[in-house]
Amino acid sequence: MSELLNDWLGKSFKCACGQQHEIPIRRIVIERSALGDVVGYVKENGYEHVTLVADTNTYAVAGEKLRSLLEESQVSVGLSVIRENGMGEVAADEEAIVQLMLDTSTTSQVLIAVGTGTIHDIVRFVSHRTNRPFLSVPTAPSVDGFASVGAPLIVRGFKQTIPCSAPEAIFADLGILAAAPQAMIAAGVGDMLGKHTSLADWALGRVLLDEHYCELSARLTLEAVELCTAHLEEIAQRTELGMRRLMEGLILSGLSMLLVGHSRPASGAEHHLSHYWEMVLLQQRRRALLHGAKVGVATVLMAQRYQALLTLTEGEAAARLAGRQAPSAQTDAERIRAAYGAMAEAIIAENASAMGVDTCALQARIAATWGDVQHIARGVPAPSLLAAWLAAVQGPVTPDQLGVEPALVEASLQDALFVRNRFTILRLQRLL
Ligand SMILES: [Zn+2]
Ligand SMILES: [Zn+2]
Repeated sequence: MSELLNDWLGKSFKCACGQQHEIPIRRIVIERSALGDVVGYVKENGYEHVTLVADTNTYAVAGEKLRSLLEESQVSVGLSVIRENGMGEVAADEEAIVQLMLDTSTTSQVLIAVGTGTIHDIVRFVSHRTNRPFLSVPTAPSVDGFASVGAPLIVRGFKQTIPCSAPEAIFADLGILAAAPQAMIAAGVGDMLGKHTSLADWALGRVLLDEHYCELSARLTLEAVELCTAHLEEIAQRTELGMRRLMEGLILSGLSMLLVGHSRPASGAEHHLSHYWEMVLLQQRRRALLHGAKVGVATVLMAQRYQALLTLTEGEAAARLAGRQAPSAQTDAERIRAAYGAMAEAIIAENASAMGVDTCALQARIAATWGDVQHIARGVPAPSLLAAWLAAVQGPVTPDQLGVEPALVEASLQDALFVRNRFTILRLQRLL
């Protein structure tokens, strides 16, 4: 049992940040034998009919065994093995959602997601829309979305994140995690390292725009990433301790998002770059890249931008802010139309409140709080350190190693800031 995580389960409390926080997850098991614990949980909760959801890979590594364990205990198991789409990939898209709905019998009481992020996203949506709980059985420590609420889905070729529900319980089997492909383990580390820049972005929002900020959620997110960076050697060698710490970090990051009810603590400009790259790859019908691999590479790029803030004195920053004319709402709308094609109007709507901001007042605020801004920037690890951490788990470090060409990197540095209406280092830089 993981003490660190279990303290939060089922909790509902009024936080110092002013919000009521609630963690709906009832049980988290991170153990060598976690697959067996699923059966105990299912029996304990009186579930007699379950639907097990996997893809062909995750069915082979965990689904098949879980199915026989459940059937040995007289649980009736319906099966949904999500098929690859026309691109030869399992994606959280309309096809997969309809398949799962067709495969789920009316008597099924609970869905069991056996897989990585994509399987979880499909299950999370169908679970929410059919009013059934779901159990999470991660097969790789690749992403921090297991414990969270949002389901990023691809609908009509565009990615959108839809608020759904958290799993009722999570069972992470350390033996299965240790056998995951190295690229997925590295992706989990990449997704975690992104917390360094997402937390800095959130802190910028707090200082510059009085955005709501929860110290507790931010502290837990930082603890989550430090659990991983303190055990990189073990993670690289896939020891039991390493897999445990990485999984704890990923789940803890998910819990921090559940606390505040949004992904702000765990997703900033590094995620916006990642989403932008993903969107373009999708439009060009190129193969998808692992989420955490993209986030890791983007984190190094964003850390470089934070580091650049440290080179400017208060006077230099003030002079630059005074001399810089921020783009008008109209210029932004034109940029968005050029960059986002069919999605443009939705993106413009997403950015409506940011476009209405008084940029001169914001620039004055940046100048007046330059000490705070630099303090936030100093909290971000040096790009070289982040790169070394990624390399330690054999993850890609540069866009080139990831397979993202310079033109796409350049476009994303210009236009990814519009992906979400959140203040980030990318939004700060265009005012400076
Ligand atoms: Zn992520
Ligand atoms: Zn709070």
